[in-house]
Amino acid sequence: MATIRASCPECGDVELTTRDVRVLLCSTTNEGSYAFRCPTCRLAVSKPAEPRVVDVLVSSGVRLSVWHMPAELDEAKQGAPINYDDILSFHELLQQDGWLDTVTSMVTNSGPGVGRGTEDQA
Ligand SMILES: [Zn+2]
Repeated sequence: MATIRASCPECGDVELTTRDVRVLLCSTTNEGSYAFRCPTCRLAVSKPAEPRVVDVLVSSGVRLSVWHMPAELDEAKQGAPINYDDILSFHELLQQDGWLDTVTSMVTNSGPGVGRGTEDQA
């Protein structure tokens, strides 16, 4: 098992094995990083890694985890941000009998950005 020398912000240089390190690769941005827990102080350390470093670590046997940004980041945001009045209105709506039917009809009839018509902001 290969020995890897890395740097802990608290302890300085520390020696690790390939089993102690994990490479993380974001498939959305293609940015890589590596992470380990310092064997001395137990601090969780994560550092960015150039593609060359990712290749060297993975080829020496370090586990690779590929992840991606959540799909919600690509959703189109519509309407104004939610404010305290919106939350209060929603709370009051939830106190009424049949609130689920009311909310369901709002979603079914209006699509995204629901129930936040511009008429009450005019
Ligand atoms: Zn440390």
